Amino acid sequence: MIKVGLTGGIGSGKTTIARIFETLGIPVYNADDATKRLMNSNPDLKTTLIKNFGEASYKNNVLDTTYLAGIVFNDPEKLALLNSLTHPVTIKDAADWISKQSAPYAIKEAALLFESGAADHVDYVIGVFAPQPVRIKRVMDRDGLTAEEVMKRISRQMDEEVKMKRCDFVITNNEHQLVIPQVLELDKKLRELASR
Ligand code: ATP
Repeated sequence: MIKVGLTGGIGSGKTTIARIFETLGIPVYNADDATKRLMNSNPDLKTTLIKNFGEASYKNNVLDTTYLAGIVFNDPEKLALLNSLTHPVTIKDAADWISKQSAPYAIKEAALLFESGAADHVDYVIGVFAPQPVRIKRVMDRDGLTAEEVMKRISRQMDEEVKMKRCDFVITNNEHQLVIPQVLELDKKLRELASR
C-alpha cells in the first residue's frame, strides 16, 4: 500500500478534500486530531508535556488547551518545543494505523506535514491550494475569528508557495475550479501507482 500525505495552509480545504477521498473508500488519518487525542491518552507524552510546560497543562487529567495555547502561541520557541515533543508520537501512531489499513493507498492529512518531518514517511504528497483571501474568509466564517487572528495563524505556517512547490500533486480549491473532478483524476493516478 502506498502512503500519501495531504497538506495545505489553514483553511485551504484539507479536511473537505480528505472527506471526498473517504467517499472513494480511501482511509484517512487526520494528524491534527490524532495529536490532540494522543496528548490526552499517551502516558509518556503526558509526562513529557507536564515536565516541559508544568502541572497546569492538565486539569482533572484533561489537557488544558487554553493554558497551553497561551504559552506556545506567544512564544515561537515554546511552540517549536511542543511540536518537537508531539510530532514523533503522532508519526509513530500514524505508521501503526496505516499498517493496519487495506486499501490501494492511505492518506495522512497534516497541516504541518513538511515542518514535522512526516513528509519523509510518505510516498507522495498532495497539496491543497487556495488563495490567501479565500482562506482568511473561510476560517473567519468557520471559527468566528477576526482577519487579524487568522493572519497571525497563517504567519506561523510555512509559505504557501514554497509548500506547494514541494508537493507531487496540487489540488486547487479556489471555489472556481471544480474539486471533485480533480480528486477523481488523482485517485485514478494513485490507484495506478499503487498497482505497479
Ligand atoms: P484547517 O487547517 O484549519 O484544519 P482545512 O485546510 O482542513 O483547515 P477545511 O476545514 O476543509 O480546511 O475548510 C475550511 C472551511 O472552508 C470549512 O468551513 C469548509 O467547509 C470550507 N470550504 C472548504 N473548501 C470549500 C469549497 N470548495 N467551497 C466552499 N467552502 C469550502
